[in-house]
Amino acid sequence: MNDQYTFDAAPYVLGALSEQDRLTFEAHLADCPACAAEVLEFSDLPGLLAQLPADDPALTMTDEQLEPPATLLPALLFSVRRERRQRRWRARQRRHRQHALGGSGALTHRPVPRRRSAYERLCA
Ligand SMILES: [Zn+2]
Repeated sequence: MNDQYTFDAAPYVLGALSEQDRLTFEAHLADCPACAAEVLEFSDLPGLLAQLPADDPALTMTDEQLEPPATLLPALLFSVRRERRQRRWRARQRRHRQHALGGSGALTHRPVPRRRSAYERLCA
């Protein structure tokens, strides 16, 4: 069972908690078998991390190198716009087909407008 301290188990094992948080967590550990089990589960982590080569580029990246590439957002926006254009085009084709089949079809099968997601509204 999870509690508010469960997510402290891995940072605790890795020595990443502040002194105050570590003391609080250790006091909680004495009475919480679930968190004690979490700590036990993560206990191999420091040894596994120590086996990673120190010259691994993924471990030596600076914060700047970890930033997403500047081209990511434009590419994402392009992709969303293209998808939106294709969706509109398909909807237009459907309406034309329904109209060509006779006006009554267009009235009885009017598509319900799909609500745009917050992301789509942001990109509009
Ligand atoms: Zn706990």
